[in-house]
Amino acid sequence: MCRNFLGPLFHLCVWFATFVGPAVSAQPTELWRSWNQPVAPFRIVENVYYVGASDIAAYLITTPDGHILLETGFAETVPLVRASLRQLGIEPRDIRILLTSHAHIDHAGGLKAMKALTGARLIASAPEAAALARGGRGDFHYGDQLAFEPVTVDEIVADGGTVTLGGVTLTAHLTPGHTPGSTTWTCRVRTGGRELDVVFAASVSAPGYQLVNNAAYPDIWRDLQASIAALRALPCDVFLAPHGQVFGLTNKARRLAEHPETHPFIDPDGYRAFCDDAEARLRKQHAEQAAALEARNKR
Ligand SMILES: [Zn+2]
Repeated sequence: MCRNFLGPLFHLCVWFATFVGPAVSAQPTELWRSWNQPVAPFRIVENVYYVGASDIAAYLITTPDGHILLETGFAETVPLVRASLRQLGIEPRDIRILLTSHAHIDHAGGLKAMKALTGARLIASAPEAAALARGGRGDFHYGDQLAFEPVTVDEIVADGGTVTLGGVTLTAHLTPGHTPGSTTWTCRVRTGGRELDVVFAASVSAPGYQLVNNAAYPDIWRDLQASIAALRALPCDVFLAPHGQVFGLTNKARRLAEHPETHPFIDPDGYRAFCDDAEARLRKQHAEQAAALEARNKR
């Protein structure tokens, strides 16, 4: 479907093409700024709230013992998240745990500031912890071009590992390829007598990435294929992602406000379409690169 196809393609690909500033330059493009417009926070389902910007997502998961914040966006997203928390009556100091999907500037650029604001523990996969400590420098594809404030991870989570707070458990599913430690998070919520599986799907786009003979990331193709398989294996009722455009945030938020009884964020078909589109796009990219390599080798 269009929204699912365009979303990942858009992600990084366009911004890389339009990137004009030096490393650590704040929001150098119109595109980045367009992703970072304020939106009112709202409840997605039960204890899961949207507290992010117009496209750059941030999720609040509340518990009786403090709260979990998944994603902080750019450094420039932090004031927007803070304002959203205030609107929901949440004190920053009541955020106990910080999580992220991956160590790119648009999702992890605000972690350092948010950690200082909340005093929360930052938990991430081992490869992402290393990338966060480097402030995104030395990325296998972007090098040092999308650097952000380095931040220290307090606890490493392994594939299948869990994070529990106040009776709420999030499970980490390593879905590498977009970055070596990209992490999809899942949780279950009970609403209206029904259990729902919530998937915070990591990015699996590979914008401009070399998928064949990539010396900087030799296993990238194997990792991406395994990640697609892992995503397909996840039960999903509520489909969420680091970029709003990937799961139709704007339309779904509007429908939720106008017709809450339709539960637009419950979208298993949208999730399957996201997996299908991601796989088709990656296979096409890989096949084109493999064919080009073969043609070069024949010359
Ligand atoms: Zn990314």
